[in-house]
Amino acid sequence: MRLNGHFQDLKQSYLFITVAQKVNDFQKARPDADVIRLGIGDVTLPLVPAVTAAMRRAVDEMGDAETFRGYSSDWGYEFLREAIRGHYAEKGVKLDLSEIFITDGAKSDAGNISDIFDTDNKVLIPDPVYPVYVDSNIMAGRELEYIAGNEGNGFLPLPDGRHADIIYLCSPNNPTGAVYSKEQLRAWVDYANANSAIILFDSAYEMFVGDKDLPTSILQMPGAETCAIEIASFSKTAGFTGVRCGYTVVPNALKRKSGGKEASVNSLWLRRQTTKFNGVSYITQRGAEAAFSPDGYKQIKENIDYYKRNTRLICDMLSELGIWYTGGENAPYVWMKCPNMSSWEFFDFLLDKANVVGTPGEGFGVNGEGYFRLTGFGGRENLEKAVKRIKAVL
Ligand code: PLP
Repeated sequence: MRLNGHFQDLKQSYLFITVAQKVNDFQKARPDADVIRLGIGDVTLPLVPAVTAAMRRAVDEMGDAETFRGYSSDWGYEFLREAIRGHYAEKGVKLDLSEIFITDGAKSDAGNISDIFDTDNKVLIPDPVYPVYVDSNIMAGRELEYIAGNEGNGFLPLPDGRHADIIYLCSPNNPTGAVYSKEQLRAWVDYANANSAIILFDSAYEMFVGDKDLPTSILQMPGAETCAIEIASFSKTAGFTGVRCGYTVVPNALKRKSGGKEASVNSLWLRRQTTKFNGVSYITQRGAEAAFSPDGYKQIKENIDYYKRNTRLICDMLSELGIWYTGGENAPYVWMKCPNMSSWEFFDFLLDKANVVGTPGEGFGVNGEGYFRLTGFGGRENLEKAVKRIKAVL
C-alpha cells in the first residue's frame, strides 16, 4: 500500500506555529510584557442572544420524544435554507432551495468541493491567499498557477489571459481585506464563462461589506449562475467559529462535462455530499436560522460593526503615519506595507518594541512578503492600546 504521495508536495505550514513559538519565547524572556494580539483570525464576541435562545429551544425539542429529530435532509433543513434564500433575495439574487447546501463551515467545503473536479483541471489561485485552496488542490495532485496580488492591482488580481479551469476568489479577502468591485467581478465571470471555467467564490466575510456599491456575492453578477459556486459561512458573520455552520450555493444552471456527457454540477455535489457528509446538527441549524431573523440580524450586525470600528482605528493610525494599506473598510483585516522591513523582521520589531502581535504576509504566499496582516477581531481597549504603541514606535 502507498499513501497519497501528493502530501509530500505540500509546504509545511509554519506560519501560525512560528508565530506562536516566537510569542512564547518572547513571553518567557519578558514575563512582564503585556502582549496584545492583533494577529487572530477568530471572533472574540460571544454568540448573540437571538442565536443562543434559538439553540436552547432546539435543545429542549431534542430532549422531547414528540419533537426529537434524527438525520436532516441531504441539503439541510428547509427552514434554514429558506432563511438563506431570504438573505440572498435582499441582495437581489433569486435562489431555488435545491441550490443551497448546509455545511459545517466554509473551510470543509472549500477543501471538499475539489472531489467533483477532474485531476486534469488547471487551477488558478490569487497570491497571497487563504491556504486551504492551495493545499487541497496539491493533495488532489492538480496543477496550480498563481496570479499575483500586489500594490499595483490593490491585491485584487484580474484575468490576465492565461487559461484556467478552476479559479478561487475570496472577497472580502483573507488576508488582504480587499474587496472586488462589481466591474472586477464581472470581468472574472465573463472570463470564466468564455473559458468554460468554474469560479469558487469564498464569501465568508460578505457581511463586513458596508459599501452599497460593492458586491457581497458573485451571484449578483449577470452570468454567474453558469460559472460560479459560492461558499459561505456563519463563522465570521454570526460568531460560529466554534459552533460550525456554513452553506454552499451551487446553481442549477451550472453544467459541465463529466465522463463525456453534460452533467449538472449541483447533482454531482449532492451525490458527493450524500456519500461523504451527514449534515449539521438540528441545534446548530436553528441557531443559524436565528442569525437571519430580524432580531438576530440586528444583533450580529452590531458585533460586526464593533469589529469594523476596531479596524477603523487601525486604518486611521496607518493613514496618519502615511503607511500604505488596503482592506479594513469592508473587512475585518487590514493589510499594511512593512516600513522597510521584511514581513518577519517587522513581526519581530513590533513584538519587541510595541509588544503587539500581527501576522507576517509572507505566510500567505510569495506576494505577501513585505506586508503584514492586522485584524479587528478583539477587544476595543486592547486595540486602542496597541494602536497607541504602534504609533509610538513607527
Ligand atoms: N474562508 C476564509 C476566507 C476564511 O478566512 C476562513 C477562516 O478564517 C474560512 C473560510 C473558514 O470558515 P469556516 O469557519 O466556516 O470553516
